[in-house]
Amino acid sequence: MPLFPPVVSSLLYLVAAVCFILALRGLSSPKTARRGNLIGALGALIAVVTVFLASRLENIPWILAAIAVGTAIAWPIARRVQMTQMPQLVAMLNGVGGGAAALIALLELPHAADWWTRLAIVLTLLIGAISFAGSVITFSKLQGILSAKAIVFPGLALLMVGVLVVAVAAGAWVVTSGPFFAAVAVLVLGLAVGVLLVLPVGGADVPIVISLLNAFTGLAVAASGFVLGNVLLIIAGTLVGASGTILTRAMAQAMGRSVSGILFGAFKGGSTAGSTEASDRPVRSSSAEDVAVLLGYAQKVIIVPGYGLAVAQGQHTVAELQQALEARGIEVEYAIHPVAGRMPGHMNVLLAEANVPYESLKEMSEVNGEFKQTDVALVVGANDVVNPAAKTTPGSPIYGMPILEVGDAKQVVFLKRSMRPGFAGIENELLYEPQTTLLFGDAKDSLAKVLAAVKAL
Ligand code: NDP
Repeated sequence: MPLFPPVVSSLLYLVAAVCFILALRGLSSPKTARRGNLIGALGALIAVVTVFLASRLENIPWILAAIAVGTAIAWPIARRVQMTQMPQLVAMLNGVGGGAAALIALLELPHAADWWTRLAIVLTLLIGAISFAGSVITFSKLQGILSAKAIVFPGLALLMVGVLVVAVAAGAWVVTSGPFFAAVAVLVLGLAVGVLLVLPVGGADVPIVISLLNAFTGLAVAASGFVLGNVLLIIAGTLVGASGTILTRAMAQAMGRSVSGILFGAFKGGSTAGSTEASDRPVRSSSAEDVAVLLGYAQKVIIVPGYGLAVAQGQHTVAELQQALEARGIEVEYAIHPVAGRMPGHMNVLLAEANVPYESLKEMSEVNGEFKQTDVALVVGANDVVNPAAKTTPGSPIYGMPILEVGDAKQVVFLKRSMRPGFAGIENELLYEPQTTLLFGDAKDSLAKVLAAVKAL
């Protein structure tokens, strides 16, 4: 017997929905993000508990066992995951959500009484399956199980359109007369579309596709809300769908690309993944002591953090260096590029972990005008986001992407391990400019050496 009358469960669903909206609001600023996350988790808890108390559930032991298994798998993975592997984790969690929605829709088909519900089932099946299979491919690309480059073969585009058309035809059949095997066909064809859609996406575009698939999962969940007659699923799914779409557009814009170019660019022969070969052109390299002198006698220093800082886990050391420089009266700021690292907000989260004050973080539009008055731009494990090829080389995979104008600073210091390129796989001419110095080594080690040398000045 349900413990609550429907009106109480509707009210609790409303509370959960308000929590989700407040969570999104909280997540819009680093200051309130942690609170936003907790409010969202509270909303999810209220929603799940309400389902147990307000519905006439069958198979409760099985449901509890499934929750226990899911928790036992997800908890340790989420605790252990490295900051640099976060996009993979998001891809997997997201894909599983889409897959779950599709499976639920399939099992609901025998109970669907009208064409309207069957339409919602078909949409959930198709979008959920695309999201699941696409997420597995993005995960495999980021994890190095599959090549990160665009994978294209002759006839791929035609095959994808063909599979999609057959899937839609099978879906129409399900809507009109509802045979179960046709619904299974929609699911399988949806999986194939997901694979074929994501295989041709390569390189720096993969994380953007994760965000797009996230939006797909939101739509699948919203559609499953219609199937199950659950308003909360419709609201939560729509929020995920809308925020995923906004994020996808924002990321694409920050990289100067269009969403259609990302999905279908490889069909025209363009791929964003370049070479990983190290260049052997001569550069000016120097010691940690020389870099400490440059920094220690500067008036203004801008630190440009990138993916390499996250790999090296150098955030605490860079924060200490900032403090040591500020103690000498030097003005220090961080220039944050919207796609530095491998996911939006990567650098903000990393630096927040080391308690770097938010006021020290400057967005690209704010800081770009300041490089001209900057004595030293210290580029820590960043490459593509400062690469002038984005402005000067039409045809380059990053052409059109707005960059941090570090070349305007009087001196530029790069901390990196080798002459290998960044994620986009292209040369960075700034490394060879006369005002540029390189300090080779792991970012955390180099920062520690520079810090010790600054303290000794
Ligand atoms: P890049 O990948 O361009 O460069 C990272 C640099 O860090 C490399 O030069 C590498 O050189 C260096 N590095 C790696 N490990 C270490 C280490 N342990 N110590 C010192 N240096 C290290 O990173 P950026 O942050 O500049 O650019 C991000 C890229 O990711 C862009 O191409 C962007 O488009 C893409 N991207 C980002 C997304 C986002 O939302 N943030 C989404 C989609 C794509 P070396 O190997 O020589 O050390």
